[in-house]
Amino acid sequence: MESFWLLNRKNIQNQLNENVKTQVCIIGGGITGIATALYLSEAGYKVTILEKESLGGKVTGHTTGKITAQHGLIYHYLCDKYGIEFARKYYEANTKAISDIEYYINKYNIECDFEHKDNYIYTLDKEEILKIEEEEKALKHMGIKTETTKKVNLPFKIELAIKLDNQAQFNSIKYIDGITNILLKNGVKIYTNTECKGIEKQDYGYICRTNDRKVEAEYVVIATQYPFINIPGFYFSKMYQSSSYLIAVRTKKELPEGMFINIQAPIFSLRTAITNQGERILIVCGMDHKTGEKVDENSTYKVLENKVKEWYDDAEILCKWSARDCITLDKIPYIGDFSKTMPNVYVATGFNKWGMTSSHVAGKIISDKIQEKNNEYEEIFKATRLHPIENSGEFKNMVTDSFKSLVKDRIKKHTRNIDGINNDTAAIVEINGQKVGIYKDINGKIYGVKPVCTHLGCILKWNNADKTWDCHCHGSRFSYTGENINNPAQKNLTVIDIDKI
Ligand SMILES: Cc1cc2nc3c(=O)[nH]c(=O)nc-3n(C[C@H](O)[C@H](O)[C@H](O)COP(=O)(O)OP(=O)(O)OC[C@H]3O[C@@H](n4cnc5c(N)ncnc54)[C@H](O)[C@@H]3O)c2cc1C
Repeated sequence: MESFWLLNRKNIQNQLNENVKTQVCIIGGGITGIATALYLSEAGYKVTILEKESLGGKVTGHTTGKITAQHGLIYHYLCDKYGIEFARKYYEANTKAISDIEYYINKYNIECDFEHKDNYIYTLDKEEILKIEEEEKALKHMGIKTETTKKVNLPFKIELAIKLDNQAQFNSIKYIDGITNILLKNGVKIYTNTECKGIEKQDYGYICRTNDRKVEAEYVVIATQYPFINIPGFYFSKMYQSSSYLIAVRTKKELPEGMFINIQAPIFSLRTAITNQGERILIVCGMDHKTGEKVDENSTYKVLENKVKEWYDDAEILCKWSARDCITLDKIPYIGDFSKTMPNVYVATGFNKWGMTSSHVAGKIISDKIQEKNNEYEEIFKATRLHPIENSGEFKNMVTDSFKSLVKDRIKKHTRNIDGINNDTAAIVEINGQKVGIYKDINGKIYGVKPVCTHLGCILKWNNADKTWDCHCHGSRFSYTGENINNPAQKNLTVIDIDKI
């Protein structure tokens, strides 16, 4: 299940095998780490990037890749909750990010299929028309040109959509590769297959440790999507992860002009993209759910496929993949100081599935902070703010979920036995009083793991769409062989040989 963006992609292979001194160490080489390195290296800073796997290979390589300041129906919410000035700044910061992306693409002739497109948020439900009208009112009140329309060339009828002109889309991985070439020219040191295991304070700056090497830096930027340090910061108590599924589709029928997303679940987000052969295809993303919920092929990829075949009877599925992103409790990313107790360590996370612009908002804010320059948007994204916790509804849900996975699921008796598990699926069974996560592959071969998340000890749930063990508490994921594939967990699961227990 390979993402369309990562097909035939060649990675930089350059593992850290020496100790390094640098001004800024950026941990994580997705779009956030790359954008931050771009702003800083253009300003003349000495920057080092440590990337655990490959540049852009995680969420950035699995995104939908719409570049827009229209992050769902956010502006009515922001005006209502924080006031018009706040909402305007959020809009401006993200719109500036679109201009910055375009500026660097043009400045360095980066071929990444960047195209301006209008963005639409639509509804199929008469009852949601009011929400769209309220959003229009909020945007107009903020002085932003927008309009509602029923006329969109989607292959299905909508009730109403709100349009924001002149947004954009691109191929996220071609963009990462293009910017990486600039970073290398700017002298940025980039190490892949290099996992940072911890950050230690020293008299002057910090040491970022890998297994056997260290990077000494004055400033550290945690751009790992989900921060890999639990304490301080406590980001695990301020956000959760949400998964979505994507398919790339070929059809000879006319494709919609623009980028589209609906308001409420089930989500169907659409855009077009261009293959290396110059063919225009469709990308559809949706079926969002909190990471760690029990799902299978029929509740995820199959729903998307069936929908697309309803729209285009000649639809051919070219690839399918899934991804997840961090969702904050107040819908605003966390950007800036990581914790009041770790000066000069910065974080950028919680992009709520709108990281193409948020990454550049983050890169600019963090690079301005390091340069001790004023940034007018810094305050609204402040990572150490407390008001997300005040959003007690979401916070209560998170606490309840964590309690269930940490306590109730731990004492729950698992009555199924191994013979009762069908091939190509999995379940938790109890063998001699010990919980074991068993996956049987298509030939019946058994893979056993300890189904306890190595992050904070929650009991894992089986995801039969992707064949992974997922954590409902904070969204860590593991392959059926126990390999850790998603933050915040850092360690693999313990593999269990069922013949030995
Ligand atoms: C399904 C889906 C669709 C989306 N669609 C859109 C969209 O249309 N438009 C939009 O704006 N946004 C979208 N987003 C959001 C956007 O893709 C993400 O917010 C963005 O890609 C996050 O980038 P990042 O660099 O923060 O994270 P990542 O791309 O995940 O990069 C983090 C990097 O850190 C590395 N790392 C982790 N731990 C360590 C460590 N200890 N040491 C070293 N390296 C480490 C990882 O290997 C990874 O490469 C979507 C998200 C999802 C899930």
